[in-house]
Amino acid sequence: MKFQTKAIHTPYPRKDAYGALAMPVYHCCAYEFPDHQAMIDSFTQQSDDPDYSRVTNPTVINLEGIIRNLADAKEVVAFSSGMAAISAAVMAVAAAGKRIVTSKHLFGNTFLLLTRTLKRFGVETVLVDLTNPEEVKAALTPDTCCIYLETITNPQMEVADVRVLSELAHSVGAALIADTTMIPFLYVDSRSLGIDVEILSSTKYLSGGATSLGGIVIDYGSIEGFSDALRKDLLMNLGAYMTPHAAYMQTLGLETLDARYSVQEANALNIALELSERDDIEVCYPGLPDNPYHTLCRDQYGGRFGCMLTLTLPSEEACFRFIDELQLVKRATNLFDNKTLAIHPHSTIFGTIDRETRSRMDVSERLIRLSIGLEDAEDILADLNRAIDMAVGKNE
Ligand SMILES: *Cc1c(COP(=O)(O)O)cnc(C)c1O
Repeated sequence: MKFQTKAIHTPYPRKDAYGALAMPVYHCCAYEFPDHQAMIDSFTQQSDDPDYSRVTNPTVINLEGIIRNLADAKEVVAFSSGMAAISAAVMAVAAAGKRIVTSKHLFGNTFLLLTRTLKRFGVETVLVDLTNPEEVKAALTPDTCCIYLETITNPQMEVADVRVLSELAHSVGAALIADTTMIPFLYVDSRSLGIDVEILSSTKYLSGGATSLGGIVIDYGSIEGFSDALRKDLLMNLGAYMTPHAAYMQTLGLETLDARYSVQEANALNIALELSERDDIEVCYPGLPDNPYHTLCRDQYGGRFGCMLTLTLPSEEACFRFIDELQLVKRATNLFDNKTLAIHPHSTIFGTIDRETRSRMDVSERLIRLSIGLEDAEDILADLNRAIDMAVGKNE
């Protein structure tokens, strides 16, 4: 079966008593057992009977099973948010005295998790340029537990060579952990790129129109003991399992993911091409043929480029004006909603990080991030062009 069919027809783990065509939402905390032996078997993981919904729930298990089938993975665990998934995956390999090698271009909370939260527990994070193999190599030590990367960095839109990073990580026995939120996992052959563990914020593409928070960890089975650490240690002890309601929404989202993504990506390219005709702004989108990461992105990520693009305006004031002038496009964070969203990352997502660090992270005050939605591209373009005209002082 092709992925679009699998996304819809992967069977439930157990036959539904009523033959329901949508996986029911099991809104319950605990499960009854027929006898003591069934109880023992469940609690000691000798059976897959659910015992308690913090660690196993039929609706969530169903979503995990579909993703496992689609990704051909060893194990998939669903968490309550992307950050919960990232925390658990990183903590499954890290320990006091271990080193994480990653980019200075990171999602804001991942940056703070690694450089602030985990630092308090003795984990050292080294920030390098992941597009420079020599610099990465120089940062690797026998204590390195992982190289952590984002497939397209947000908002710098940088793409590193994943195969090179995989070889470097494996040369010191470390894992390659990738946040693949920017391009749906359906299209990317992570295993052949040498990614050991994939994480995605399912809040984004999967949730189907920004309906619910979630995070997914996909384990390809190449790191010994990883899935045990993830499910039996971190999931149970940190307690951040996905809720059954979110799993229900995201199962529906997964069924329409390919259809939605195809339209959003076509919109993104169309809008990037149109806006790059303007000489008063700069447009960054890896789908543009003259983008420096175009070829690498296309070759690594199944010819997909995502639905996020950035605009560089003449000044921070112009950015603020642009944001205020928008009429159709929503002033909001988040990515891959059905609605087109715009944000000025420097003053918002990165607003509590000191100026110097922001500049070190290359978060420019002249940058606008757009997440292109499912509206008609002409309507989106009309709103963007009008707001840009106002922002740069045309039409006044
Ligand atoms: C949104 C996002 C996250 C965090 O996910 P949440 O679901 O908001 O916790 C992590 N990484 C990337 C690249 C994201 O876009």
